[in-house]
Amino acid sequence: MPDLIHNLDAVRQRIALAAQVAGRDPRSVALLAVSKTFPAEDVRAAHAAGQRAFGENYVQEALTKLDALADLRESIEWHFIGPLQSNKTRPVAERFDWVHSIDRLKIAQRLAEQRPDGMPPLNVCVQVNVSGEASKSGVLPEEAADVAHAIAALPTLRLRGLMAIPEPAGSIEQQRVPHRALRELFDRLRAAGLELDTLSMGMSDDLEAAVLEGATMVRIGTAIFGARDYSN
Ligand SMILES: *Cc1c(COP(=O)(O)O)cnc(C)c1O
Repeated sequence: MPDLIHNLDAVRQRIALAAQVAGRDPRSVALLAVSKTFPAEDVRAAHAAGQRAFGENYVQEALTKLDALADLRESIEWHFIGPLQSNKTRPVAERFDWVHSIDRLKIAQRLAEQRPDGMPPLNVCVQVNVSGEASKSGVLPEEAADVAHAIAALPTLRLRGLMAIPEPAGSIEQQRVPHRALRELFDRLRAAGLELDTLSMGMSDDLEAAVLEGATMVRIGTAIFGARDYSN
């Protein structure tokens, strides 16, 4: 899969360049490879090229892939980043390392109850609706502090930070606006005493804007694996 290896390299270079422009250490930006809709073999190839963190959106698809890649489990970090219904939380609590898409307290409470004894805490981010559309999931910015404090008190979860999926925007300046809003909210929550270290923002089309505004984890699918085909 020469394209995949080349793409992965190109994405790493985009991160490094954006970090340089921002005056940041490129190692302060983690790369999450979003493998939804792509086969386990592609994940295996990216893993062989040194990629360790992978993001999935759909529970059933993800579980099939985790099974196919069970031999790599110790060296892969699995991140759940899609909308999560309350009747689908159990396998996510049992098998993932991270969940970025906590959009209500109830989901966090279920994940906390269902996280098995003996596993490390499940790392979680609160998804925030920074673009304000009714259709987008995520807590409203004004609700985020209450939700975050409640989650931080759950013993089997470890609240790491905030996640957003801003609306597409044309220019990098426009792209920076919602990313900046998420970072300012992150700074306020930290100032209020929450020990957050993760700002999960930036996708294939707005990676640079996100890194300029302080992203510590970018979630990149298309630019690594290619265009997604949802027909099957
Ligand atoms: C699909 C997806 C991504 C990756 O998007 P690309 O534009 O393909 O890079 C990132 N985050 C979330 C939450 C996604 O659902």
